[in-house]
Amino acid sequence: KITQANLQSIDFAKQQDLVPAIVQHAFSGTVLMQGYMNQAALEQTLASEQVTFFSRSKQRLWTKGESSGHTLQLVSVHTDCDQDSILVLALPQGPTCHLGTESCFSSADHSEQPMLAQLMRVVQQRQANADSKSYTERLLAQGSKRAAQKVGEEGVEVALAAAVGDREELLNESADLLYHLLVVLHSEGLELNQVLQVLQQRRA
Ligand code: AMP
Ligand code: ZN
Ligand code: ZN
Ligand code: ZN
Repeated sequence: KITQANLQSIDFAKQQDLVPAIVQHAFSGTVLMQGYMNQAALEQTLASEQVTFFSRSKQRLWTKGESSGHTLQLVSVHTDCDQDSILVLALPQGPTCHLGTESCFSSADHSEQPMLAQLMRVVQQRQANADSKSYTERLLAQGSKRAAQKVGEEGVEVALAAAVGDREELLNESADLLYHLLVVLHSEGLELNQVLQVLQQRRA
């Protein structure tokens, strides 16, 4: 972990003063963007708790969100095995990409995202449709009460599989439970990250 006290450990000289900085969502692990930091950018990031890069096109310090308002609230800064790159954990305020997506690495199928975030995006893209071939669309068409009932059923199936020690069944039912939990959250207008935030607050 990098703080104002030990930021000298980053090897800026090795990288001609500009070290690649990868920004990850602090809760979900989604990779949001990549930029470059010099020592001044890293110092400003740590002091202001707003992620700040050195912009190669602007040739100056650039606080992400300075004109759009879509800032990256700093959570923590880390370095790699040989101190020549930076990993930033942050909480984005709005879309990180100037094209309006959560991540600069966003694609239509979200296949670059962490698996649960990816699955949540797929659920969110499904429209309620009672006649669809998609199980999710048919489930959404039945409203959040039905999805909530499924979470109850799958929860009981997880408990039974664990109780009898059937590990393969436990894996399958756990997958069912996680999937249906995401559908319930989406039906109620909630995000996976909001659940992760509750877990984070309990840890702190
Ligand atoms: P912002 O820092 O969000 O106020 O955006 C200022 C300018 O920086 C935008 O007009 C873009 O040219 C550029 N920009 C914003 N976000 C990104 C990003 N995630 N990656 C690369 N360039 C960006
Ligand atoms: Zn390295
Ligand atoms: Zn982008
Ligand atoms: Zn099941």
